[in-house]
Amino acid sequence: MNLAIDVGGSNLRAQIWDGNIHIDSMSTKSKNIGVAAWIESILSKHKRITTIGIAYAGQVEDGSIISAPNLNIDKKDIKKFFESNYDVTLKIENDLTCAVMAEAKYHNSKNICALYLGTGLGLGVVESGKILRGSHNIAAELGHIPYKESPFKCGCGRSNCIELFASGIALRKWIQHYAINCEPKLSELKKISDNKIADIFEEALLYAVGTAITLFNPDVLVLGGGIVSANPYLLEMITENIDKHALPQALKDIEICTSNIDGAPLQGALLLKDYND
Ligand SMILES: [Zn+2]
Repeated sequence: MNLAIDVGGSNLRAQIWDGNIHIDSMSTKSKNIGVAAWIESILSKHKRITTIGIAYAGQVEDGSIISAPNLNIDKKDIKKFFESNYDVTLKIENDLTCAVMAEAKYHNSKNICALYLGTGLGLGVVESGKILRGSHNIAAELGHIPYKESPFKCGCGRSNCIELFASGIALRKWIQHYAINCEPKLSELKKISDNKIADIFEEALLYAVGTAITLFNPDVLVLGGGIVSANPYLLEMITENIDKHALPQALKDIEICTSNIDGAPLQGALLLKDYND
C-alpha cells in the first residue's frame, strides 16, 4: 500500500492507496503533532504500507528536511529514519514540487508553473518536462524574493519577503498591524470599506505572478491553494492586470487558470513513488 502525505503550514493530510483503490484518508492540525510522529502512528495501524511520499511545505534535499519557516520539525533525516526503522521506501519533496507534478500531469504540459497561496506563497516549476531544482533543490522559492520592507519578520529571518505581503500569514500580520477588527480572510477584508490590506495583497500577488511568468515563460500558470479557491475573483484580477507585471513576449499564448485538482500537493506526493530524475 502507498501512503501520501501533504504537510502544510496549517494541516497535515494523508491518503492511503492500494494500487488504484483508495483505502483511507486522515488529517490533523500541524501544530498538534510532528510529521514523523504522525507517520509512525499511521504505520502502526496500517502495516501493509510499503511506500511513503511526502509533499512538504519547506526546503528538502536528498530525503532530509533543510528548513521549514512555518513548521516544527521533529525529524530532519526523515528518509533515513523511516527506511532504517521500517520496511518502507520514502520520498519527500517540497509541496509545490508535488503540486506542479500533479498539475503537469493534469494539463499534459512540459512548461508549467504552479503558484499556490495558502499559509505561505509557493511556486513549483516544470521546465522542458523536468522539475526545476537548482543546486540544492531550493530553486523558485518565490515567496522569499525581496519585495518591500515590511514591519514584520519572515520565517526565513528577513523582513522584505513577498510572502509577508501576499499569503495567509501576511493577512494575519497586516490585520494585527493596522488593528483592524476582521477575520484574517481576504474575502472578509474585501467586504470592509477600507481595503488597504486587500490592495497590499493584490499588488504583491500581481508582482509574484508577473515575476514567475517573466522568469519561467510557462505554457500554463496554475493558481491554487486555499486563498485562491476561496477568492475566485483573483483569477480575473490577475488576467486583467498581468500585462503591467510580466514581459509581453512571456505572456504570448499563456494559459492562466485556477487548479482543478482536489489537493494537488497530496496527489503529487502519490506520484513520487514512480518519479525518478
Ligand atoms: Zn522569507
